[in-house]
Amino acid sequence: MSSQTERTFIAVKPDGVQRGLTSQILSRFEKRGYKLVAIKLIKADDKLLEQHYAEHVGKPFFPKMVSFMKSGPILATVWEGKDVVKQGRTILGATNPLASAPGTIRGDFGIDLGRNVCHGSDSVESAEREINLWFKKEELIDWESNQAKWIYE
Ligand code: UDP
Ligand code: MG
Repeated sequence: MSSQTERTFIAVKPDGVQRGLTSQILSRFEKRGYKLVAIKLIKADDKLLEQHYAEHVGKPFFPKMVSFMKSGPILATVWEGKDVVKQGRTILGATNPLASAPGTIRGDFGIDLGRNVCHGSDSVESAEREINLWFKKEELIDWESNQAKWIYE
């Protein structure tokens, strides 16, 4: 059962929110069988983005990327289920939308690298760090899905 409690942080970036793609993105995770355990619309500040993208601080693209990420609301979500971190990255597609397969979010909705619509944690450790950064403990909802027995054998 514990493999089903893996969690990942998925965010719809300001371009995805502006373009009205949030429901379609949520829907892909729901339909796959993953369970939503936290969700909120948030305007990120420098401090949050510097922590979230700590590995990219100082890179040439960083200032432009941060100003884009502050340009509008972000839909922050946490999803739970078996292998959700890796599968989440697969559902998102490659970082560069032009290299993303059709059927992925970025491959269906994106063109430019700096407008790739969504974020997903790249490892179980990153997921834990990012979830704690974007959400308070009490914002993570423990609930039992009635669908679980139809999704997991
Ligand atoms: N990014 C960018 N220019 C670059 C590299 C990255 O604008 O040259 C943005 C891009 O939107 C990407 C984010 O920075 O999603 C974080 O980069 P990372 O390599 O971590 O990609 P991800 O984990 O989002 O696939
Ligand atoms: Mg990354």
